[in-house]
Amino acid sequence: MGNKQNSSESQHKNNTSLASPQNRQKTPDGEKQKEIKMIGPMNKKQLQFSIWYFLAAMGILFYLNALVDIPETTIEFSEFKKKIEAGEIQRVKLGERYYTGFLQTRQTLEQLTREKKKVERTYRTTPVEDPSLIALMDKKGVEYYKVPITFLEMLVTATVSWVLPFILILIIWRFMFSRMGGMGGVMSFGRNQAKVVAEGDTGVLFDDVAGAEESKEELKEVVDFLKTPEKYEAIGGKVPKGVLLVGPPGTGKTMLAKAVAGEAKVPFFRISGADFVEMFVGVGASRVRDLFKQARENAPCIIFIDELDAIGKSRSTVGMANDEREQTLNQLLVEMDGFEARGGVIILAATNRPNILDPALLRPGRFDRQVLVDRPDLLGREAILNVHSKNVKLEKNIDLKKVAQSTAGFAGADLANLVNEAAIMAVRVGREEVIQKDFEDAFEKIVAGLAKKNRVLNPKERKIVAYHETGHALVAALTTGAEPVQKISIVPRGLGSLGYTMQLPTEDRYLVTEEEMLGKIDVLLGGRAAEKIIFNQITSGASNDLARSTEIAKKMITEYGMSEEFENVVLSSHQPTFLGDGSLQSREFSEETQRYIDQTIAKMIKQRFQHVMQLLQNKEETLHAVATQLLTTETMDATEFAQIIHHSSKPK
Ligand code: ADP
Repeated sequence: MGNKQNSSESQHKNNTSLASPQNRQKTPDGEKQKEIKMIGPMNKKQLQFSIWYFLAAMGILFYLNALVDIPETTIEFSEFKKKIEAGEIQRVKLGERYYTGFLQTRQTLEQLTREKKKVERTYRTTPVEDPSLIALMDKKGVEYYKVPITFLEMLVTATVSWVLPFILILIIWRFMFSRMGGMGGVMSFGRNQAKVVAEGDTGVLFDDVAGAEESKEELKEVVDFLKTPEKYEAIGGKVPKGVLLVGPPGTGKTMLAKAVAGEAKVPFFRISGADFVEMFVGVGASRVRDLFKQARENAPCIIFIDELDAIGKSRSTVGMANDEREQTLNQLLVEMDGFEARGGVIILAATNRPNILDPALLRPGRFDRQVLVDRPDLLGREAILNVHSKNVKLEKNIDLKKVAQSTAGFAGADLANLVNEAAIMAVRVGREEVIQKDFEDAFEKIVAGLAKKNRVLNPKERKIVAYHETGHALVAALTTGAEPVQKISIVPRGLGSLGYTMQLPTEDRYLVTEEEMLGKIDVLLGGRAAEKIIFNQITSGASNDLARSTEIAKKMITEYGMSEEFENVVLSSHQPTFLGDGSLQSREFSEETQRYIDQTIAKMIKQRFQHVMQLLQNKEETLHAVATQLLTTETMDATEFAQIIHHSSKPK
């Protein structure tokens, strides 16, 4: 009874905390994007444009050239000579491109002009190296003179023989590079591309990001830093430079970063890690430099680097040396060290693989803060569904909570997609409103695609996971000295993990007692024991727990001398390997001892399992209470957990 009361209480509490997203005004889709600098290569349109200008200019040039030249009859050189021979041609203009023959001498021409009966017939021919021509003209008394090349002629000659081929080569070159997809990098040599976008007013606020309450809470501080840095300076505190948003794709990391900028009302520079890595060494590094320069000019502002792992991969884990990426990473580190956060530039970065990041990136003064952006729980999913169906016409009595219940494991982006697909389903059958069935159909369609990527559990599996996690948590609560339970979750987390129970130590510990080690084993075995008690069957889900409990038992016997036969004796020696990721174990004992170790481990685990079974059987009611609550809320924090235990263990 008490249990029921509690559950509705906690639901109520969570509902109120999520009320705000529903009152929102703006949708994330309505955000404005303002591109500031667009440095980089000309785009296609511009390219075509300039070619047209060029062709027009050429046309005008040729037209002018034609105007200057008087229309003439073009004849062959030999005929030209013949006309001189015959005395027909009286005067010859030796031009650069043509020889022009006139039928009158200058004198007669002047006379004719005076008499206003100027009829001048001219012949034109292409020059030939022929010294006899001069001799011939001398003999015939022909007037001849050479004219220097005109500016226009020079221009046309140069254009045809030099500029045109050059432009042609340029066009071909550009075309080839655009084919290779790397034109930007070549043409702009390290200048940031259009992708560096300052979204002055991102239009996203924290209220637009539904669900991720814990992440928002941590980021609110960053907003405060940006708004009132004086407050922190006054007390001598250092403002953080970098915050790393860690979480699976589509959980709203980009949205959160935008929301920080939106709340603090500062410009937002966004670039993807992959954009830095170009085919030429040095391009990435100079892009980083440029990015920070721009950011400093626009401070206070936020730089958001998406997919940080694309440049930040640990330098030791990549087999082949990648100079370009390494240089880029180094430049990023240098820039981060070099600026004072006091300048008002804060770097947010997102990654879904924090474990492969170079440790140098996570050092103090760099990305020393990490904010987890996890897949949403039930209430989070409902809130996100509400946000995204704001502009969708829904049937009146639609139950989004039900949709949320069936979508465990969906990230925000999947849910946004679900709403969209449901709307498409409705349109397809010619309905004007989205009904519950549309959501179900859309869900099926998406799950088929997502099955590989995210795990979506069936109801039976969800139940098993809920009891499994409760088993861990309850044993932890019942074991003295065990680390207290911080959070229980049955939200699938992609690859492998179906749920988790998080325990946090209350203090730093350097020594562990034998009893505590046994306690750890108990907690690990609690999951499988709960499955056995409730379903009378065991599943593969406990394999990781078993591996860890066996490891502890083994260490107790071989390293800490905690067995009967080898009391206070160490049975293995550890040599740290130079790779630093583990140690090389060498066996320095007999086959017989090995057998003893194996048997003792088995015996120890068996005993502990029996003990845990006993423990949980005595508390079966609490086990049900916690698991039932978990099945509805999917996550549970320490307080809720403690309350349920308290209520259900009260004497009736
Ligand atoms: P990430 O950067 O983590 O890959 P994004 O921030 O790009 O994810 O999210 C993709 C889309 O998913 C967003 O544009 C938004 O429509 C939706 N989305 C994700 N998380 C949320 C959330 N918590 N609230 C509302 N919408 C969300």
